[in-house]
Order: sequence, then structure tokens, then C-alpha cells
Amino acid sequence: MATDPSRAGADRRTPFRSRQGVRSSVIATGPAMARTAAACYVTGGVLGFLVALVSPVDEIRHDTTLRVIAVVSLGAVIAGVGVGLFGSRLPRSAFFGLVLLSIGLIGFEVWLQRGHPEAIAIASLLVAVSMYAFFFFDWAAGLVAEALIVGLIVVAKLGWDTLPWGVVVVLIGLNLLIALITGSLVRAAAEADVDGLTGLPNRRGFDHLLQEALTDAERTGGPLSVAVVDLDGFTRVNERQGRPEGDRWLRTFARDWVVQAGPGAVMARHGSDDFALLCPGTTCSELTAQLEAFRETQPEFSAGVAAWQVGDTPSLLGSRAEIALYEAKCSGGGRTFSSGDASGESWLMLSSALANGEFTVAYQPIVQSVTGAVTGAEALLRWNRPGSGPVSPVEFIPLAESTGFISTLDHWVLETACREAATWPRNVPAKVTVNVSGRELHQPDYYQQVVDVLIRTGLPPQRLVLEVTESTMEADSPVALDALRRLRADGVRIAIDDFGTGYSSLSRLHHLPADILKIDRSFTASIGPHDAGAPLIAAITGLAHALGLTTVAEGVEHRYQADVLARHGCDENQGWLHGRPDAPALIHAALAAQARRSAVTFEQHTGVR
Ligand code: C2E
Ligand code: CA
Ligand code: CA
Repeated sequence: MATDPSRAGADRRTPFRSRQGVRSSVIATGPAMARTAAACYVTGGVLGFLVALVSPVDEIRHDTTLRVIAVVSLGAVIAGVGVGLFGSRLPRSAFFGLVLLSIGLIGFEVWLQRGHPEAIAIASLLVAVSMYAFFFFDWAAGLVAEALIVGLIVVAKLGWDTLPWGVVVVLIGLNLLIALITGSLVRAAAEADVDGLTGLPNRRGFDHLLQEALTDAERTGGPLSVAVVDLDGFTRVNERQGRPEGDRWLRTFARDWVVQAGPGAVMARHGSDDFALLCPGTTCSELTAQLEAFRETQPEFSAGVAAWQVGDTPSLLGSRAEIALYEAKCSGGGRTFSSGDASGESWLMLSSALANGEFTVAYQPIVQSVTGAVTGAEALLRWNRPGSGPVSPVEFIPLAESTGFISTLDHWVLETACREAATWPRNVPAKVTVNVSGRELHQPDYYQQVVDVLIRTGLPPQRLVLEVTESTMEADSPVALDALRRLRADGVRIAIDDFGTGYSSLSRLHHLPADILKIDRSFTASIGPHDAGAPLIAAITGLAHALGLTTVAEGVEHRYQADVLARHGCDENQGWLHGRPDAPALIHAALAAQARRSAVTFEQHTGVR
């Protein structure tokens, strides 16, 4: 694992290791290695064949020897054609095997031709092998091949007394020179693939590596995913703190991400504050989850993720990730979108609906069980879609949750409801209750967001109730619980919504930062017209009061239900009996009337029975 940041620069040169441990140079792509190996094998084979063909038969080299040479050479030609056609699917180590094989074949032919000048001509083919080894493999692998080549020339000298030392020296010297020049030049050329500031591969280097990874994915069947990442706050840092600080920020980001992404991944710098991540062996959803986990420790970023599909080219795969990034940025940034799921599209649909004013907030009265006086209202979101009419929150809330748009929507509802409630008569102690999704609650700055809304709208905190479900709190996120505790300390009240539908642990309930229990409407619905008692309701209200919580029964549709609830000590009711969710003016007028005639009920005012 690339846990040592100082190794990031070294690893970038050889990000892919073959399983056998042979490392390829940075420009080694499967197709390039295959094409070059094919050309070397075919040329070497043809030359060997021609040498055998034109060699005179003498007492040392009889017919059989020349025939063997011709067959071996033909074999090399056939192997070369095969590598040319199918070689790009071979793993990196197979090409190193071809290097070793070519040294063996040349050595065999030299040995068969020993004593003749043709052997020296064939030995000169080793120069091409030296070049190949140092071009496509790292120094260590190249040196292994070079040691074998030098060893082979020395063995040839030992088995061939009359071979002049001058020829041995020139052959060895030539091979070493070619190895050195090729190795140095290829590494200098690779510098063009590297970003000078971060030491990561640049866009060009990334494209090379992506091409190579795609070839591997095609051979193995994947998976492989790519992410493009944009640092949301970089421009701000650069402008406010200057370029040197911006550069330091980018270097830190690059170093941390290399460590977090792990050893199999390749991180590259695409542009000024754009990065790319290539993760072989990782699915789209795994990479998305990994990036989301980065958010806990990393500066804010937007990301687009795309997974390799059969037939993908680097540019096709890259542009799918870019489109997902574009959608993530259009959605306000700070998000990870993946190509292929509908989240980007749904996000844009919901966001344009909000911008076009298709969302409104309806208010449903909450009344005191005994007196029927309005004590507040729940703010419920409504979506009236042009052309298709009202869409139920049961449909669009889960959609908004899955795309992440819920945070924007909930924030908008909170601001709208607080602004509305701030206009309600002050002499009626009415509260507005607002639903909070789990996602919103887990935002690190949630507490501050609510405080800011209260300050902006002028609503006293005592007039706001936030409704959270048990399951949201079950997540046991210290961030969420801490935000709720701080809000309570400021005077905001917390209600547990839909109580009884989730997993309710009594000891947990005791420790939750809550003030109100909203009894789910399934309990209310179970109260029939002839029921004198409702033991479950009695148990819940008893428990709630023992814990210092007030109770609100949801879904009260009939008078007999309201009567039973009042008898069992339920503090407040909400339901169609008292009023449906409706326009803000209605609740405002009811509260104004109540302010004038202190005991007026909502149903008296609206005429609802
Ligand atoms: P909820 O928080 O339990 O809201 C109460 C739901 O019960 C509302 O449905 C309301 O119209 C309905 N209701 C009220 N009285 C009665 C009744 O007497 N009988 C029956 N059968 N139903 C009644 P709605 O408005 O369709 O909302 C459904 C859910 O959508 C809400 O359930 C809440 O979970 C979610 N939701 C609504 N607005 C928001 C919002 O602004 N943010 C978030 N995060 N969720 C919201
Ligand atoms: Ca609710
Ligand atoms: Ca509810």
C-alpha cells in the first residue's frame, strides 16, 4: 500500500505491477508491447531463416543443422504473427517471458552456427532484445535481461575458442550502450506524462494508464471504475490565500488521496483543481461509497464516477465520468454522482421544479385534545407538477433522499415554514413543526444551518419543532445527536415522528434528545367507533409522560377517536378531523381568530367536521 506519501512519486512510474512481480515502464501499454515484440520476432525469424538459406553446407554445418535453424526461425516468425494478433491480451509478465525466450532462441542459433561468421551476425540481434527490455520494463527487469545477454556472449566465447576478443567486447559494449540509452530516453520521455506540482500522472499519463487498464479489463472481464474529481473550494483558497497556499493545498490533497485510494488505484491530476482516479477491480458503487467515505476527512469536492463497459474506449469512459461530474456540480457541488444511475437526471428534475416554484408548503393544524385549540401546524411539502398534477410526498421524498436533493428541499421547507410562522400572531403560543431527513441531520453544520434560518426569519427558537424519525436517530451518529442536543439547549423542540413504526427501545427512548412523541397514525386507525378503551395508546402516553414527553396522535379522522385519545391522556391531535394540510393563509387566519377569541377551535373556524 502506498502509505508513505514520499513514495507517491516513485509509484506513479510503475502503478501497475504484474502478479509475477515484473514491473513495466510508464509508457508500457499492452498493444505497444505486443506490436513491438511481434515486429522483433518476425524480423529476427526472417533474418535467421535467410542466414540458414544462404549458408554453404560444410563439414561442421551439415544439412540437419541448417534445417533446425530454418525451423526455429520459422517458429519465431509464426510466434511473432501470433503475438501481433493476440498479444495485447497477454499480461505484462508474458512479455518478459518473450524477452527470455528470444535470448534463448538467439543463443541456440549462435551455438548451432558457432565457428562461422554468421553466428556473430545472429548474436547482433541481441541488441534489439536489450532495447526492448529497457524500453518496456523498469531498470531491475532490464538488468536481469542484460545480465543474461552478457552471460550468453561470454558462454559463446568459452565454447568458441577462435572467436576474437574484439568481437566479444564490441557485442557486450553495444548491448550495454543501447540498454543505457534506451532506458534513459524512455524515462525522460515519461516525464512528459507527469504533473510537476503533485508528482502524479498528468492527463496524458492518465490516458496511457487508462488505455492499459482497459486492455487488462477486457482480458479479465473487469470490473474497473473511473472517477473525476473537482475541488469545490480550491478557487476560494487560491484567491483568498494566494497561489503558494493553493499549491500547497493541491499537493496535500494529492498526497492524502494517494494514501486513501490504496495501492491498486491510480490518482492523476487532470487540470488545475481536477483530479482523476482509476480503480481496477472496483465497481461503480464501491468507488462511489469509497469517495463518500473520503468526505469525512477531505476538503469539499464534487465527483463523477463511471464504470467500464465492454467496448469502452478511454475517451468514452472518461466522458461518462465527466458528465456525471457536471451533473454533480450543477446540483450545487459537494456530491458524488455516478453515470448510469438516474440520480443525476432526477436531481436536475427536482432542482428545476424548485427553481420553477412548483413546490409549496401546506400546513396541517395540530390541536389540543381537550380544548380543541390550535397549538401549531406541521409543514408538509407539496409538489404540483405542471401537466401531471400533484405528486405525493410518498413518491418524491424517497427520490429526493436517494439523489441527495432532500437536503436542499428540507432546507427550503425549513426557511419557508419559519418565515411563515414568524408572521403568526405572537399572543398565541403556536409552534411550527418541520420534518427533517436523516441525510440533512447528519450534515456537520446542521446546527448552524438551523440557527441561521431562525436568525434570518426572526422566528423564536421556542416556536420551532423539528420532527425526526426513530430510525434517523437509531443511526446513532454523534454528529446528529449532538446537533439535536445543541438545538434543544437553544429552545428548539424535537419530536419523534411516526413513533411505534420503528424499533422502539425503551432505554434508548430515555436517552434521546426529544420533547414530543408523535404516535403513528396506525395506532389511531386501530381505534374503532365502539371502542371504549385503547390499551396501546394508554401505554404509550403513560410511558411518554413518565419520560417527560408530550404526545401528539397522528391521523385523527373521527370524533370518537379524538374522544378516546383525550380520555387516555394524549395531549394533542393532528388529522383530517381537525383540518387537512392546506394553504398558509388558513392556519394564519385560524390562529388570528384564536388570538381574538381565546378558545376558538380550528374546526369551528374552518367548518371542518
Ligand atoms: P408524516 O411526517 O407522517 O406526515 C403526516 C402525513 O399524514 C402527511 O402525509 C399528511 O397529509 C397525512 N395525514 C395527516 N392527517 C391524516 C389523516 O387524518 N389521515 C390520513 N390517512 N393521513 C393523514 P403527506 O403530506 O403525504 O406526507 C407523507 C410523508 O412525507 C410525511 O409523513 C413525511 O414523512 C414526508 N414529508 C412531507 N413533507 C416533508 C418535508 O418537508 N420534508 C421531509 N423530509 N419529509 C416530508
Ligand atoms: Ca412528520
Ligand atoms: Ca408522522
